[in-house]
Amino acid sequence: MTESTAPQSEHRTVLLRGGDVHSPADPFATAMVVERGHVAWVGSEGAADAFASGVDEVIDLEGALVTPAFTDSHVHTTSTGLALTGLDLSGARTLAEALERVRAFASDQADGAVILGHGWDAARWPEQRPPSSRELDEAAGGRALYLPRVDVHSAVVTTALLDLVPGVTGRTGYHPDGPLTGDAHHAVRAAAHGAVTPAQRARAQRAALAHAASLGIGTVHECAGPEISDEEDFTALLGLASEQPGPRVFGYWAEPVEDAKGARRIRELGAVGAAGDLFVDGSLGSHTALLHEPYADAPHTGEGRLDAAAIAAHVTACTEAGLQAGFHAIGDAAVSAVVAGVRAAAETLGLARI
Ligand SMILES: [Zn+2]
Repeated sequence: MTESTAPQSEHRTVLLRGGDVHSPADPFATAMVVERGHVAWVGSEGAADAFASGVDEVIDLEGALVTPAFTDSHVHTTSTGLALTGLDLSGARTLAEALERVRAFASDQADGAVILGHGWDAARWPEQRPPSSRELDEAAGGRALYLPRVDVHSAVVTTALLDLVPGVTGRTGYHPDGPLTGDAHHAVRAAAHGAVTPAQRARAQRAALAHAASLGIGTVHECAGPEISDEEDFTALLGLASEQPGPRVFGYWAEPVEDAKGARRIRELGAVGAAGDLFVDGSLGSHTALLHEPYADAPHTGEGRLDAAAIAAHVTACTEAGLQAGFHAIGDAAVSAVVAGVRAAAETLGLARI
C-alpha cells in the first residue's frame, strides 16, 4: 500500500520503532525504516538509535504488530464489490426479514436495474427453506434479482431474471421450486452479471480493492473464468488495477486448456494461470461436491465436472506453456481426481517440471 501514500510523504524517511515487526529478515525486529515509500531496513531497538537523528520523522508504534501486506489468494473482485455495494442478506434472521430487505432495497433503487444480493442461508432461518420465486417476484416488484446462497454455488432468482436466459428450464440444475445449481445456476449468474453496466462494475471493483487495502491486503488473486465472470470483467479489472494505486491484482482464468493455442489465448487475457475456480466439482452446501460415498442427507455423490484425464491434459498443456495450472476441488472424489490427473501429467513431463 506504499504506493498510495501522498506524493509529499514519498520523499520522507520515517523510523517506526517500539513495535513487533514481523519479517523473515529479522525475527526479533522491533523497528523499521521507510524510505521513499519502501522498507529500507528492519532491526532491533538498539540499532534503531543510529537512525533516529537522520530521519524526517520517528513514529512510536507503542507495541503494535507490523506485518508485510497480506495476499488474498482467492478473490472474486467484482462480486465482492457488488456485495459491498449491493443487497446484503447475511444479517437476516428469518426468511420473512430477508424478503423485507429485498422489498426495501428494490424500492430504494428505483432505476430498474438488476438487483444483485448475497449472503442468505436458509439453514439459519426458523422457516428452514429458501424464498420461492413467487415470493421474490413480489418482493422485488417484478425486477430481475439474483440471490446466491452464502457459499455462492447455488442461487434463487426472480422470474424476470429467468426470462433473460432462454432455455434455462431445460438445463441441469434447474429446479422450479428450489435454488438453481450447476448449469442452470451458471447461466442465470452470467445473465445477472451481464446486466451490470460497465460503470456499475468499475465502481464495484474499486470498492472491493479499496476494502482490501483497508484490511492490509496488498495483493489479490482474482479467480475469474467464463462460468464465474467474463473476459470483459477480467480485463477491465486488470486494467483498472494497473492504472491506479492500491492492491496488486494477479489474474487466474478458469478454463480447461488442451493445447498450446489454448494456453496462449489465456495468457493474452493477462492471466498468470489457468486456475482458480476451474471446477472439478461444486460445493458441500449445495450437495454438488463430488464424493466417494453418497451424502448422508442426499441419495447421490455430487457432480463431477472434470475427470482425471481432462485434469492431466490441462496440467500438461499449462506446464508446457509456463502457465500455472490449478483447480477448484472440494469433495474427496474430486481431490482424488486431481491427484490422479497431476500424477499422470508428472509421468508425461517428469515430476520436476510439474
Ligand atoms: Zn471462487
